[in-house]
Amino acid sequence: MTVQQEAPAGEALEVWIDQDLCTGDGICVQYAPEVFELDIDGLAYVKGADDELLQEAGAVTPVPLPLLTDVVDSARECPGECIHVRRVLDRVEVYGPDAE
Ligand code: SF4
Repeated sequence: MTVQQEAPAGEALEVWIDQDLCTGDGICVQYAPEVFELDIDGLAYVKGADDELLQEAGAVTPVPLPLLTDVVDSARECPGECIHVRRVLDRVEVYGPDAE
């Protein structure tokens, strides 16, 4: 992940998963395997730099701009309604179950 892939300051987005609601179907992993991965516990987690799995519940990772559509589609299709995409600047959810 390079700096050039990030959205402009103020529009940068990040994503987190509420594992309590994850059904483990893996739809998000099909859309954006660079961002999401199923862990051995059968639940989806986001990935950080160097592809490492962020295994704490609710961990947050930046949304690379080229993957924004895939991440948004994941949030829209997620049967658990548990993928949250928010602005880094003010943490307002822009895609996901809590978006307006
Ligand atoms: S799409 Fe949603 S419910 Fe399905 S594995 Fe991903 S986070 Fe979990």
